[in-house]
Amino acid sequence: MIKFQNVNKYYGDFQALKNINLEIGKGEVVTLIGPSGSGKSTLTRCINGLEAISDGALFVNDINIADPKVDMRQVRQNIGMVFQHFELYPHKTVLENITLAPMKVLGMNEAEAIEDAERRLNNVSMLEHKDKYPSQISGGQKQRVAIARALAMRPSVMLFDEPTSALDPETIGDVLAVIERLGTNQPDLTMVIVTHEMGFAREASDRTIFMAKGEIIEDRPSEEFFLNPQDPRAIQFLDQVI
Ligand code: ATP
Ligand code: MG
Repeated sequence: MIKFQNVNKYYGDFQALKNINLEIGKGEVVTLIGPSGSGKSTLTRCINGLEAISDGALFVNDINIADPKVDMRQVRQNIGMVFQHFELYPHKTVLENITLAPMKVLGMNEAEAIEDAERRLNNVSMLEHKDKYPSQISGGQKQRVAIARALAMRPSVMLFDEPTSALDPETIGDVLAVIERLGTNQPDLTMVIVTHEMGFAREASDRTIFMAKGEIIEDRPSEEFFLNPQDPRAIQFLDQVI
């Protein structure tokens, strides 16, 4: 589903990813953790081509996206992404934010798109806010709408880059709960989640990948990793954050 083969990524002379080899299967929920600057965002952004890899091969649904002939628009259509900062369209209502792309890109008619969007808003407990504008809802609510919006494009992969780090503490749990439920309710959905929420990583993800200085240092089942981290850098990191 997602496969990195000997991937390196340079920004000029600086090597941000070092010989990444990683396979993430269909339906797996993987969390990426590690110190600031370790390459978590870079690795995630490579998956949907927001950053180009410098060498190696990177397969998403069996397509090598490093191949310049690949139509990235088509690849991206299968990948939903939610960032730290909510990027809802400010001049559209919550509902319109969700119906827009399915109508434009997937060719749904308006009635279909609205029905689907309302169902998705209900799933994230935001249906009652459907006619509000983004400025009228909280950060956590915006983030839940952003998740519903990404899902409305029916992606096979969801990427989350610190989806809760810009939120007030009291709203973080609601957003994490939505993401955790997704893992259960959509077993075929592959998810890669960059997070500083160690409790979430432990409870909600199948695998945890610990990165440091552009390298994957540990890649193990979450339960096992948190119970018994091996590498001194992982042990030190967990000591600092937990
Ligand atoms: P954080 O937890 O702070 O978000 P991260 O693990 O996501 O960190 P990345 O954003 O992937 O780290 O950055 C990895 C390294 O690459 C950092 O040293 C960063 O300064 C560098 N880097 C990231 N983007 C660029 C860029 N566009 N140009 C140059 N260097 C970059
Ligand atoms: Mg980052």
